[in-house]
Amino acid sequence: MSGRITFVGAGPGAVDLITLRGAAALDEADLVIYAGSLVNEKLLERAKRAKLVNSAKLSLNEVLEQMVDGYRSGKRVVRLHTGDPAIYGAVSEQYRELDNLGIPYEVVPGVSSVFAAAAALKVELTMPDLSQSVILTRAEGRTPVPEKEAIEELASHGATMCLYLSVGEMERLTGRLRAAGLPAETPVAVVYRASWPNQKIVRGTLADIAAGVAEAGIKRQALVVVGRVLGRDGALSKLYDDTFATGYRNAGGVAAFSGRVAIYALTAAGAHKASEIAAGLEDAVIVLPEKYAELAPASRLVRYPDGKFAEAFERGWSTYDGLVMVMASGVVVRHVAQLCREKGSDPAVVVCDAAGNYAVSLLSGHLGGANRLAAAVARITGGRPVITTATDTSGLMAFDELAARHGFRIANPELLKECAVAMLDGETFELSMPQELFQRYYAGNTQFRFLADTPGITVRARNSGLVLHLVPRRFTLGIGCRRGVAAATIEALADRILKARNIDWASIAAIATAELKQDEAGLFSFAQSHGIALRFFGADELNAVEVPNPSAAAEAHLGIRSVSEAAALLAAGDGAELVVEKTAAECVTVAVAEVING
Ligand code: SAH
Repeated sequence: MSGRITFVGAGPGAVDLITLRGAAALDEADLVIYAGSLVNEKLLERAKRAKLVNSAKLSLNEVLEQMVDGYRSGKRVVRLHTGDPAIYGAVSEQYRELDNLGIPYEVVPGVSSVFAAAAALKVELTMPDLSQSVILTRAEGRTPVPEKEAIEELASHGATMCLYLSVGEMERLTGRLRAAGLPAETPVAVVYRASWPNQKIVRGTLADIAAGVAEAGIKRQALVVVGRVLGRDGALSKLYDDTFATGYRNAGGVAAFSGRVAIYALTAAGAHKASEIAAGLEDAVIVLPEKYAELAPASRLVRYPDGKFAEAFERGWSTYDGLVMVMASGVVVRHVAQLCREKGSDPAVVVCDAAGNYAVSLLSGHLGGANRLAAAVARITGGRPVITTATDTSGLMAFDELAARHGFRIANPELLKECAVAMLDGETFELSMPQELFQRYYAGNTQFRFLADTPGITVRARNSGLVLHLVPRRFTLGIGCRRGVAAATIEALADRILKARNIDWASIAAIATAELKQDEAGLFSFAQSHGIALRFFGADELNAVEVPNPSAAAEAHLGIRSVSEAAALLAAGDGAELVVEKTAAECVTVAVAEVING
């Protein structure tokens, strides 16, 4: 009788993150060949009858020999791989050999460590506007990586990157990612032994993560996640996370939902969700019928006799400022209809489904603060706030989002939060801004008045008197190059860098270089093709600028410590900031500075 061979993905480590099918295969196994230190030995306890073999000590041939012998002598063999076998599992050689021998086998998938890492980080790897792709890759080690998949190439997409087997050389990795044009402030997270009890998370940016990882002593068994999705600066999360939910919890400085909140539920599932919401809202009470009373913490509970919901709701209506109803909206509407009087005095009412997917601002959205309460509830449940007041649905565009999308710098960002709250509360705004942008985002909404067509943006909130200034961002490109370099070579690098930073060519005020490049034809035709002025600086001027990446070679060779960084900074004038440090490729170096006081 022949046996059976099953390749099983063990998952990332936690014993309960294996699939049911994988666990069943282990339960029945006679022989388990498992892959070293990232398979949790506690999982092996399931395989009560089995002989256990750690493949870390075996060659591929020895592993195969054991599997084949086992199969031929009628054993149920499990080959246990970490995560999912299809990712860096070195299974293809094993599959091929078994195919050659005509031996059948089955493969059971597993939770790859990338997903355990994403879960630990509580991040969505694919966020609208930030990245809609995930690149699973590794830096080359003993196993080479095809040239077209070099880190630099992949990074040029700006998509979320998850790197296996790469934490050993973080300095080198982050250096390469930056050389590819990713900004130094790109968020990075490293998750060590995701889902294990000794899991560790180190967060940082391309500039400082290597130091953080070294300090944490992480050298292996970790996943590196790189990308803007980690920054939680997507449109949605900015509007709701920063301003409103944190504002709710800590009212310091920000107008938040203020007042007492009662959370109602009518089913067991609803009562559990109500407790979850209450845990995130200081001082909120949970109002439940007697039969579910034990489902909520006693300290928060307000109980009423079974069947007396209408009375309990009526009491709550006059007692609390905000009512969160975890139930069907129909039930709520019928009861609210009996009680609602006028905007100024009705409480905020938010309806939430028992799964917490939606928090609907049902009544008193602006004045009563239900929009903000809905945002706070959604934040707690991980759901979506549903806002239907006109000002919030007619393409309401937050000013920081506008700035980010269209290349403006916010001169007084400390006012952003208050402006966002004023917007949500329905205040009237007067806007001076490019007319085309006003038309696109704010026209047709009576909350916004157009004052004048201006290159910059001034936002004035009529009642609160807040004035927010957004100025068009302007940059300079500093360029260094070898003699005789082609315009196309400069173009390729400069364009890649600007694209990666979402910088428009139209916002480049000058291209700058060293005086001794005054006869460099490629550089001239590059500047000309963009219609941008070329500026030259002498060695003394350049050497007087403090730069992050001076080059000893250039100093020896040309007597200039830095061309691209120093020239970009000089051309951008006083107060300039270097936004892209020196990036080199094929005989060209490019740096980008931002004009701050121009
Ligand atoms: N097949 C596995 C990967 C095997 S390669 C999977 O799908 O996850 C081994 C690499 O996977 C490690 O170097 C590390 O980068 C990553 N890895 C595996 N388990 C991990 C865990 N629990 N936490 C973080 N990274 C892990």
